[in-house]
Amino acid sequence: MIDLRSDTVTRPGPEMRAAMAAAEVGDDVYGEDPTVRALEERTAELLGKEAGLFVPSGTMANQIAIRTHTEPGDEIVADARSHILLYERAAPTALSGVMPRLVHSERGVFDGEAVRGLVHGPLPGMPAGLFPPTRLLCLENTHNAGGGSVWPLPQFAATVREARRHGLRVHCDGARLWNAAVAAGVPERAYADYCDSVAVCFSKGLGAPVGSLLAGDRAFIDRARRFRGMFGGGMRQAGVLAAAALHALDHNRGRLAEDHAHARILAAALAELPGVSIDPASVETNILYFRLRGMAAAKFGEACEARGVRVLAIGVDTVRLVTHLDVSRTAVDRAITVFREVLSS
Ligand SMILES: *Cc1c(COP(=O)(O)O)cnc(C)c1O
Repeated sequence: MIDLRSDTVTRPGPEMRAAMAAAEVGDDVYGEDPTVRALEERTAELLGKEAGLFVPSGTMANQIAIRTHTEPGDEIVADARSHILLYERAAPTALSGVMPRLVHSERGVFDGEAVRGLVHGPLPGMPAGLFPPTRLLCLENTHNAGGGSVWPLPQFAATVREARRHGLRVHCDGARLWNAAVAAGVPERAYADYCDSVAVCFSKGLGAPVGSLLAGDRAFIDRARRFRGMFGGGMRQAGVLAAAALHALDHNRGRLAEDHAHARILAAALAELPGVSIDPASVETNILYFRLRGMAAAKFGEACEARGVRVLAIGVDTVRLVTHLDVSRTAVDRAITVFREVLSS
């Protein structure tokens, strides 16, 4: 089965499993797991931050960040189709008691003006303190629902600069910051430098089975540790998981450009097929979306599945494909053959 639904479906190979089996471990809630500590230090350094906190999922990394930056009754600004607002089960309101304010953008990438429009200024004649404080800007890079779009670094910098002008703190949901860095040709820390906190996933393109990390300055991470405990994210001999993430950083970060090339090949082939709408130029990293005319996405998905290819029917007429570690060039060619068969049958 060729699974193109998500880059979360990868399975650890023999070398990663060997690294997990050999990991030195301890009780991480007591700060005694040397492998977790090594991962936290290594990733924080990659991101140019003082400290890191290993957590079970990207959702938890984002939600701990929001809780750590805010108090209940604060506002946060995020893209309307950000992972934080779309796929995290209303956690910002449920767990942090914050009010989301939405930026409506094309592909999850926007400018400072969009932020300025959402920050309350003092209004003459209105009581002071009428509006809740707008505390935090959340940026997603790459942007999942935006089609794996990459923030151009200068635009990222300018948007953050505008947010800072209004006193906002800045969090980056960098579940796929690894992919963004490769596509933009800059180190991860080039983006992270502009942010107070960054969340990265080891379980997406990097291919680890479990784990994400939240990075920031020491005081931020100390406070975040409290909320990791509150949210139930304290893990014990988590070094077996951290070892997989370290292995992923060493062996799988350098190959992400291959996934991007595979996504471009898929997009170019799909653009030639009857009944498919896709702009190949919009494919910047490892995620691509296309629309179908004349066949329901669910039906397309079933027909592909019957031929050994899994895709994600993400809307009535919209399909998502994601390339990853377990999708070879041969698999890409096979998937294209299947798409052609299904659409011409
Ligand atoms: C996958 C993802 C996350 C985190 O997802 P988990 O399944 O909780 O690990 C966060 N942000 C983005 C943009 C993602 O794609």
